[in-house]
Amino acid sequence: MKNLTNRSKIVSNKKMSFRERIYFPAILGGMRITFGHLFRRKTTVQYPEVTREFSDIYRGKHVLKRDDEGRERCTACGLCAVACPAEAITMVSAERKPGEEHLYREEKYAIVYEINMLRCIFCGDCEEACPKEAIFLTPEIVKSEYQRDRFIYGKDVLVEPADPAKRVDVSKRQTAKVLEFKKDKRYKHNK
Ligand code: SF4
Ligand code: SF4
Repeated sequence: MKNLTNRSKIVSNKKMSFRERIYFPAILGGMRITFGHLFRRKTTVQYPEVTREFSDIYRGKHVLKRDDEGRERCTACGLCAVACPAEAITMVSAERKPGEEHLYREEKYAIVYEINMLRCIFCGDCEEACPKEAIFLTPEIVKSEYQRDRFIYGKDVLVEPADPAKRVDVSKRQTAKVLEFKKDKRYKHNK
């Protein structure tokens, strides 16, 4: 059969020697490697007590932003869900009622907005697609859980707090991202 990848190996079926049959030299070889690693500098950290420093452009948990007046920016247009390659976003839209202008910036808003963090690959396409600057990925990591349904984040988790002092600053990551984008050859070419 034609070999398409060159990754396959021809398996030898030759008889094992006495040395191979007693396995002892192979066990000693394995132990030598194990003990050799005992005295090396550890590359693992004691997560979650210790976490590594993340890059400025690290993409973690999402946030649904509010505007300067504390109103939800999302207008439930669905562009983020369409852009999502993992089909991780679902939403239900609703019409804003009279008297709710202080809650929602647009006439339409997401009454339900959910992201399945088990599906999400943190690509950032949703924030790229959003025309309202309503969704961003923050530097926060998604916490581990024991139940799968706890990874479905609703508005209670995603919408940022009304108190500006408690909001996560996404500007640092955004700035780093813009700077990186500006270094891109294609951006220079289009200027
Ligand atoms: S970061 Fe990517 S995979 Fe995750 S919800 Fe957004 S578009 Fe989907
Ligand atoms: S987060 Fe942005 S793209 Fe997604 S539904 Fe809301 S306004 Fe539209």
